[in-house]
Amino acid sequence: MSLSELQALERRYVIGTYLRNPVVFVRGEGTRLWDDSGVEYLDFLAGISVLNVGHCHPRIVAAIQAQAATLTHVSNLYYTEPAMRLSAALSESALGGKVFLANSGAEANEAALKLARRARPGGGIVVLEDGFHGRTYGALSATPQESKQAPFAPLVPGFTAVARDPEAITAAVGPDTAAVMLEPIQGESGIHPLPDPVLLAARAACDRTGAVLIYDEVQTGMGRTGTVWAYQGGPVVPDALTSAKGLGGGVPIGALITGPRLADTFRPGDHGSTFAGGPLVCAAALEALAICSDPALLTQVSQLGERLTGSLAELPHVREVRGRGLMVGVDLDVDAIDVARRALLDQRLVVNATGPATLRLEPPLTVSAAEVDEAVARLGKLLA
Ligand SMILES: *Cc1c(COP(=O)(O)O)cnc(C)c1O
Repeated sequence: MSLSELQALERRYVIGTYLRNPVVFVRGEGTRLWDDSGVEYLDFLAGISVLNVGHCHPRIVAAIQAQAATLTHVSNLYYTEPAMRLSAALSESALGGKVFLANSGAEANEAALKLARRARPGGGIVVLEDGFHGRTYGALSATPQESKQAPFAPLVPGFTAVARDPEAITAAVGPDTAAVMLEPIQGESGIHPLPDPVLLAARAACDRTGAVLIYDEVQTGMGRTGTVWAYQGGPVVPDALTSAKGLGGGVPIGALITGPRLADTFRPGDHGSTFAGGPLVCAAALEALAICSDPALLTQVSQLGERLTGSLAELPHVREVRGRGLMVGVDLDVDAIDVARRALLDQRLVVNATGPATLRLEPPLTVSAAEVDEAVARLGKLLA
């Protein structure tokens, strides 16, 4: 079907929650995408940090094909090997406690919020301004952005938003706080790494009061920042973290990973999900986690991240480059939304704007140095 036919279907039948770009993608491989006319694009968004392993990684394709032909679903009333093995691999890669599998980032965060309230019944949840944790009611209540929350009030009670500031966090957390939830690098608000003093204050406040420190690593995890999990490159260890996006190598999955203290907080019947932990997605996630945990790949993420941020900083109209590893935000003194649109349509470079000020670049972690240079050159042509 042509773009205009698809747009006609969308206008008539699709609830209009997305503003789509006028491009139809039909195929992907590594860092490359192809549209319905066979035109090739360089993908520096990776489905918003979903395709950390690149498009159609042979190990992901093989795992999905083999599992699809064997067993796709039974129900969490029974055992399957992929779910148990993935839970073990996730625990061993982070925090060492236990794992609840979910289907998305928002759902992983819902599980984390419920876990924190289970540990401290009735307790409050402290979140940070400009944070983003998802669109379901609990996750939305943790996302203190007027435009996203206001139309859907009333939200879940008990959430307090504070500035990204050590004193504000210290003051907000008390004996009735169940959790502090934060993104170690705020993604949707424009790639803002939280300064060490902020993270240290959150850790200290939770230690002082017994509240749970939850890291939302939905975007920062799976190798994106040069360590498997972003906390591993920072000053503190959280009590629990959530993952999704890159976890499935392209298929939908989320996870809550706890440390030992919270491992046995939930009881049978407290939480659940029909699809979660299904063998198809878990088989893919096992491969994705193995690929993204390769020390050689992680070293390359750090090196190519420096190459990317260094050359972006040299481009005209660039005011600031932020991020870690291959999670990069670029503040421009021209409209970033327009630049992202022209990058796609004129330069065949897929990036996005988190807002009018900031471009977001999150290529597959398997990107090459030549592809990094090519992407910067294409942006350079637009900004010249
Ligand atoms: C994308 C994102 C979410 C939401 O994930 P969904 O899978 O869209 O529900 C939550 N937290 C962070 C930090 C994210 O980047």
